Amino acid sequence: MTASIIDGKVLGARVRAEVAARVRSCGRAVRLDAVLVGNDRSAELYAASQERTCAEAGIAYQLHRLDADSGYEEIAGRVLLLNSQESVRAIMIHLPLPAGVDAERVQSLIDPDKDVEGVNPANIGNVVYGRRSLVPCTALAVLEMIESTSVTLRGARCVIAGASNIVGKPVAVLLMRAEATVVSTNKFTPDLGCLTRTADVLISAAGVAGLIKAEMVKPGAVVIDVGINRIKSETGKVITVGDVAAAEVSQVAGALSPVPGGVGPMTVAMLLRNVTDAALR
Ligand code: NAD
Repeated sequence: MTASIIDGKVLGARVRAEVAARVRSCGRAVRLDAVLVGNDRSAELYAASQERTCAEAGIAYQLHRLDADSGYEEIAGRVLLLNSQESVRAIMIHLPLPAGVDAERVQSLIDPDKDVEGVNPANIGNVVYGRRSLVPCTALAVLEMIESTSVTLRGARCVIAGASNIVGKPVAVLLMRAEATVVSTNKFTPDLGCLTRTADVLISAAGVAGLIKAEMVKPGAVVIDVGINRIKSETGKVITVGDVAAAEVSQVAGALSPVPGGVGPMTVAMLLRNVTDAALR
């Protein structure tokens, strides 16, 4: 069997086109307000690409820069100011924050209705209760990618490698909401393969290159690879790979999301959808 590819670029482009159409027809300005503290290189690159992607969808992008030596009070003050402004509907905070500033404490200040990355614990709570809320973008991307396949989630057995607050746990909750049977695993789970081999849907969000091998995958399963790992290739070049040993797993799985070009671009699209949802609420 050769797995079909769950192409995050194609799916993501479709979502971005939907978002752009909604923005065009809504007759209102839609804007993302992002806070960037200091000048971390990856955060700068992320902000620049975010601005481009927003522009393509007709979404304005306002970057609020704070000095690298800003402390909790200053960052918190900016978040509270943005919360209070009627014209601000969608807020995100670029990481990392300066050493000594607790990112989760800052994120929990974002007004839940404006928290487009779904990082305020209030939004995670709403996800559990199935209430309308802003869900973490990567978890939304994973669900959307599974739903793009022919699998029926109700009654399906889903195994997730990884249980972080931002990926593994919200994915588990969304799958539970879809009435799947969900197994959550973490780095202390013994004999991971014994569990993954039973999965109709296998999601890996562990951040461990090569974690999921062909013999750990049920034939025909849907496999979603969330991992992003930078490793040295055989030629010595640094490359990006996921958690799944893609070449061998694609011979067993029914469908597989690639890295790069899978969950990553879909996550970007889901952020834009969250921004539009927050702005047009
Ligand atoms: P994290 O380090 O916060 O959590 C990793 C989780 O994996 C933990 O729960 C840990 O216990 C578990 N884990 C580690 N080894 C394991 C093993 N052998 N078996 C089962 N579970 C194991 O990481 P995170 O922020 O959740 O990110 C996970 C991966 O997903 C990283 O590679 C990250 O770069 C990637 N990621 C990708 C996107 C995207 O948009 N594509 C977004 C977020 C994270």
